[in-house]
Order: sequence, then structure tokens, then C-alpha cells
Amino acid sequence: MKLHGIRIPHKKNTADCPPVRLSVPETVVIPMSMHIGKTAMTTVKKGDHVKVGQRIGDASGFFSSDIHASISGTVQAIEERTGCNGSRIPCVVIASDGLQEPFGGLTPPVVKDFDGFIRAVKESGVVGLGGAGFPSFVKLGVKDLSRIETVIINAAECEPYITSDTRTMVDKGEYVFRCIDIMRRFMGARHFIIGIENNKREAIRVMQKLAADTDDVEVCVLPSVYPQGGEKVLIYHTTGRVVPRGGLPLDVGVIVANVTTLAFIAEYMETGVPLIQKCLTVDGSAVKEPKNVIAPIGMLIEDLIEQAGGLKCEPKKVLYGGPMMGISLPSMHEPVLKTTNAVIFMDEKEALPPKTTPCISCGACISHCPFRLNPRDIAKTYRLGDVKALKELCVDICMECGCCAYICPAHRPLVQTNKLGKIMLKEALAAEKKKKKAGNGGSNA
Ligand code: SF4
Ligand code: SF4
Repeated sequence: MKLHGIRIPHKKNTADCPPVRLSVPETVVIPMSMHIGKTAMTTVKKGDHVKVGQRIGDASGFFSSDIHASISGTVQAIEERTGCNGSRIPCVVIASDGLQEPFGGLTPPVVKDFDGFIRAVKESGVVGLGGAGFPSFVKLGVKDLSRIETVIINAAECEPYITSDTRTMVDKGEYVFRCIDIMRRFMGARHFIIGIENNKREAIRVMQKLAADTDDVEVCVLPSVYPQGGEKVLIYHTTGRVVPRGGLPLDVGVIVANVTTLAFIAEYMETGVPLIQKCLTVDGSAVKEPKNVIAPIGMLIEDLIEQAGGLKCEPKKVLYGGPMMGISLPSMHEPVLKTTNAVIFMDEKEALPPKTTPCISCGACISHCPFRLNPRDIAKTYRLGDVKALKELCVDICMECGCCAYICPAHRPLVQTNKLGKIMLKEALAAEKKKKKAGNGGSNA
């Protein structure tokens, strides 16, 4: 099987660092949107007293997620803040009372069937914890369960620096297998593959030991090639199946779930404590002591780094996530989100992009793209505004992994032009659809 992707430095400095629990900060800022889909509706108001695990945001609509208080205290404000993507998001600001009083209603869910299981997953507030933020109850709520041939557990963790999934496997491996058991019982799943890169020796040992007691769990050890954890890449490398353009993993009989997400679901089934904290990696060239920490959701990054040992120098760039796909933070006043699996602090040398020079038509961006896209031509057609050509170049399937930009000797900003090309195509298709609808007299018939 041909491997797709690139070899990059792993920098897994914290793989052997069990997470350290941080103390409760004075305030947390909890956004009502930490997931793909609609913003949750706040259920509390200024001045309310809330307890740990209490629901403070209700999922609104099918694609949304419940949100819970990570600390006990008083709701200081409900205010709109600008998220990293520039959108305005309502946030609940809670001032701690220092008591960390648990909410009285937190009891393990009673689950008897598939519908009850999906309801429990929804109430836990869990979303894809690998960074995707897709509501887990939607992903697992498959209508026709007979379509699931294989559940792929994404344990690749292929981005440099990040080791939070590694720690889940090492420290909470039994929860991963309890969730497998739950999926056997309530989803009828009969084949599981744990896809894991070969640079995680201890995690592989733990997973293999636990899998030895089963006859339907395969631990698939994969080369450490980025982006091994990309959903379609992982499906191909573990099963040889190719998800069709515009299709879903289920079209090839597969669902893919992040390993930490599954461990959390199993833990929730036993405790009833919803998603209120995150294990995340704190690393990067500006950090004094790289480590893994457990932080309450909503903790501000400035508080997090202070408790995590501080910085060696003023960071030039701070990222949610790893250096390949991470999102740059506008300031240190941003909170830890449900999807935050790492915060990387970069010094000037690490952060500054190399000088861009003209394209030399070497083709490296094409040969190193996991999907063999042509980012060089995508950039050209984007600049020309040629939507038809963008469609032909399949810009819509770009997963923004950054392999092309990483490998480009001219340091072209290829991911950025891919992103802009995707938006251009999406907008053009939406306008075309609207025009067609108007031509039909606005009828849906
Ligand atoms: S074109 Fe998209 S999918 Fe291909 S390497 Fe570049 S960012 Fe990744
Ligand atoms: S890798 Fe860079 S220099 Fe080479 S063809 Fe692609 S854009 Fe041009």
C-alpha cells in the first residue's frame, strides 16, 4: 500500500509526562460554541449561582452540543466575545466560589438500548476531542446500524508536540475498551481497529495488552507519517478503502472516533460527570517546562501557562493545537475549549514564516499531498477567480493538513490559498443554488 504524507519532526517531549491537574482559576470564560454546528442557548443569567457539571447551555438544533459549568460560583457576565475565527460568540463568565461544589443531578445515566446510549452521549456534552468538535451523538447516532462494518479508533495523534491522546491510552486505556464494550452492546459493532502511529511505544503496549483479551479488536501500528490521523487517510491506511468525494466514512462501512472521545464516553457512563475539563499538552519553544495538564474548560490561556510553569520569553505565536493545523490565538485571554488538545507557545525563531519566493514548478506539493491535489494550480485558479477550474481541481476535498505548504521549497502560502479557494467555490455553489431556486419560482417542489 502506498503511503501518503510527509515525515516531520515529532517533538513528543511530553509523551512520558502524566497530566498534572491545575488548580481552579478565579474565573472561567465558557463559549457557547465549541463544536461544529449551532451555538448553544445559555440557560443561566447574570448573578445565578452554578455548580460543577450544571448545564449552562442547551444544544439548539440537531447539530449542536450541551455545555456545562466547569467550576462552581457566580455567573459574572454573559457577553459576546470574538472567537479565533472572527465570529462573535456568547460566553458565560463564571467567578469561582472556591468550593467546586458538584451539581446534585450528576448521576450515571441508565442506558438500556441504542436510543438511550445516544441520549446519554448527547447529555454528556462530548464532541470530537481530537480537535474536530463534531458532536459525538450525531456521529454515533447512525440510523442504519447494519451499515457499520468497522469502527476505527483514531489514536494516530500525528501532529508534532501533542501527546494528550497518548496519555489517555497509557493512563486510561481500560476506558477505551469499556467504550468498545458499550459499542458492541448498543451499536452491534463487531470489528474495531485502533490506528496508532509507531512512535507511541508505551501506548501500543497498553492497547495490545488490552486487545489480547478480545477477538474483535485489532491494534494497527502505522508508520509515523503526517497526516496519519486525517480521517480519510486513516481509513485508507487501515482498511484500504477510499471514501468517495463528498461522501462519508459510513459509505465505506466505517465510523471513525477519536480515542480520547471514546474513553470519555465510558467514563461518563460510570460517573455521570459531563465534559468540563480537558487533558492537554503545553509545549513549544517559548515554554519553560513542557507538560500535560488537566484544565477546566474555560480557563484562560494566561492562567493556564502561569500554573503550567511559565514562559522563557514573550511568545511570538500561540496556537490551539499543533503547528501543522493549529489555530493561532489573537491573545492570551482566550479560553481552553472542549476541542483544545494542546496549546503551543512559539518563540520568534519558531514562529516566523520563511521568506516566500516564486514557484519553481517542482511539483513537490502535488506528490506530497495525501489526496494528490494540485495546490500550485489551485493557487493560480483562485487568483484568477476561476470557480469552474477550482471545482475540477477538487479544492473542496482539501483537508487543510498543511503538507503542501510544509514541503514547498518556495514557502508558498498554499494552505491559505486552498482555504480561500474552498470558500470561493462554496459561495459560488450556494449562489448557483439560490439562482436555480429563484428560477423555479422559489418552489421546493
Ligand atoms: S492540498 Fe490540502 S490536503 Fe493536500 S497537502 Fe495541501 S492542505 Fe493537505
Ligand atoms: S512545491 Fe512550491 S515551488 Fe514546488 S510546485 Fe508546489 S508551489 Fe511551486
